[in-house]
Amino acid sequence: MDFAHVELSDEDSAFQTELREFLASIVTDEVIARDRATGENFDEGVHLALAERGYLERDYRPAEDGGFTAVRRRIWELEIGRAHTPWFHWGTTAMVAKSVEQFGSRELVAEVMPGVLAGRLRLCLGYTEPDGGSDVATCKTRAVRDGDGWIINGSKMFTSNAHNAQYVFLITNTDPAAPKHKSLTMFLVPLTSPGVEIQAIRTVDGDRTNITYYSDVRIPDHYRVGDVNGGWSVLREALNAEHGTVERDAEGLQKIATMTEHLLLLADGLDRVAGIVGRPDSTGRRPVDDESVAYRLGRAAARTEAARSTPEKFGRVAIAQALRELTPDLMDILGTAAVLPVGTDGAADAADDGGIEYLFRLASPMGIYGGTLEVFRNMIAQHELGLGRPNYSPIRAS
Ligand SMILES: Cc1cc2nc3c(=O)[nH]c(=O)nc-3n(C[C@H](O)[C@H](O)[C@H](O)COP(=O)(O)OP(=O)(O)OC[C@H]3O[C@@H](n4cnc5c(N)ncnc54)[C@H](O)[C@@H]3O)c2cc1C
Repeated sequence: MDFAHVELSDEDSAFQTELREFLASIVTDEVIARDRATGENFDEGVHLALAERGYLERDYRPAEDGGFTAVRRRIWELEIGRAHTPWFHWGTTAMVAKSVEQFGSRELVAEVMPGVLAGRLRLCLGYTEPDGGSDVATCKTRAVRDGDGWIINGSKMFTSNAHNAQYVFLITNTDPAAPKHKSLTMFLVPLTSPGVEIQAIRTVDGDRTNITYYSDVRIPDHYRVGDVNGGWSVLREALNAEHGTVERDAEGLQKIATMTEHLLLLADGLDRVAGIVGRPDSTGRRPVDDESVAYRLGRAAARTEAARSTPEKFGRVAIAQALRELTPDLMDILGTAAVLPVGTDGAADAADDGGIEYLFRLASPMGIYGGTLEVFRNMIAQHELGLGRPNYSPIRAS
């Protein structure tokens, strides 16, 4: 691992300043307050402004095709996180757009790509079903041929951002009699199609997601992405990207694991707690003078740093686990007022205005979406440590 400091050129420094100022002008207090209230992780004004400046397109494209250089991509990722930009929708949109470009018809690419890069069109994921999401290949949503098109029936759970998206990347079953990995076909379904219904769900951390229903939804064949019953090969690439299984670049500047932005929030929260416990009370005593507080704070900083340096699937687990274990400990250090959510009376004076409390609530769902921690641990055991496939057969009594 290379911990070398990157010396920015004058041009890259200027880029960082310009980006930081631009983000400060569009990610206003009002945008952040609205995002907290709605839990949407999305703001259309911000999204369109980033697109208009060409940032979305430069993020989407590789460097050799007009995209960010490795250094600017790193600056971009760090600054967008530091500004608390509500923009998680872009990651999903870009991921689906790559599958559409790779596997979609020319007609579909022409319909979708200009709008995606202009920020007007957003794409969401329709993988998980009410009966289960970890094994995405066990899909009950049916697509049936209807002349030149298809009729879709079924439902999807946790279709995040569907209400701000124009298309859903939908896994369907087109051959229930076939083995499950040979039964799938992917579609990019326009969410304005008659028969699509979107219902809101709020999660424990206040995020808004959705359940979506598809009742006799009719779409032309050009919305199919990849071969009929060949959906697994389309999906595998998209799942690899979501799991952070990507080729490392030669410069060592790449984001090393998915969800590192959550760790930036934890690092910010930890700094605030350190500031609070360093303040003397009316007797002149500082909480951090208590050795157990100092020890626990130090341990939290070390765990955060270790999670930040852990790559790929290991990093995804380390980040979520760090959030799950450190946030209750940090709340305990702050005392009972730490359970007050952001903006509640007294939360800012008596504790950290709900900063760690929010991360405590975020820690549970973030160990679920994009694949649960248990599933990631199995992938690590099987693929990285070579321990073989897990055995789910019932334990036999001897
Ligand atoms: C906030 C949020 C947003 C989400 N956004 C989206 C989205 O936009 N689009 C989308 O399609 N999905 C989305 N999801 C769904 C997410 O991907 C699934 O919740 C996840 O894959 C787990 O599926 P499940 O909830 O159906 O749990 P299940 O698969 O039913 O699992 C239940 C439990 O069994 C465990 N388990 C299951 N299989 C195994 C195994 N093989 N080995 C060990 N343990 C196992 C799991 O870890 C879990 O504890 C979102 C979820 C959340 C919470």
